[in-house]
Amino acid sequence: MTSTTNSPARHRALGDHTWQADAVCRSTECNAVDPEVFFPEPDETNKIAAAKALCGQCPVRRTCLDAALEGGDTDGIRGGLTEEERGPLHAKIAHRLDYSRVNDTIAGRDVHLTTAERRAVVLAAFRHGVSEQRLAWLLKITEEHAQKLYRELRRALRNRDLDQPATIPASEAVGERHDRDDFGTAA
Ligand code: SF4
Repeated sequence: MTSTTNSPARHRALGDHTWQADAVCRSTECNAVDPEVFFPEPDETNKIAAAKALCGQCPVRRTCLDAALEGGDTDGIRGGLTEEERGPLHAKIAHRLDYSRVNDTIAGRDVHLTTAERRAVVLAAFRHGVSEQRLAWLLKITEEHAQKLYRELRRALRNRDLDQPATIPASEAVGERHDRDDFGTAA
């Protein structure tokens, strides 16, 4: 499990593509960009360098990388990283536990969550007295599902209290920390 609290205040909302309007690779009448440069063969070093130079100036580079990782977009250069450079991040993202995303969700924002982050949302919501109805809305699930999640959490917490220090819910487990650059951090 990887965990972090390092992130900007706001993450990209699900389905939000408005950030692409600020992408340096967006071709306009005044600024023609060859999209092919972002899909180089591994030995096309000039193309790779050209694409990376554009990404290096791009104000939405972090968001672009997040979107690629969250969307499983493994093709081409994204967020300044080649397919090969992004490979390990794609493999790790399922284990991300970013508490700023948990906080954003509790605040009502619809951001991408991993399974670990969804568990952390349930725990945080429970501890803050968030109703089952509200939890259902936050996670876009049914009220019955939210009730079940709270029921399971209550059971896990009770078992932990009865059996210290045997079991800690996965949602509370804190694993290795990683640097901010391990993942994109979405704006
Ligand atoms: S980071 Fe690179 S690929 Fe992503 S939007 Fe910006 S210029 Fe395009």
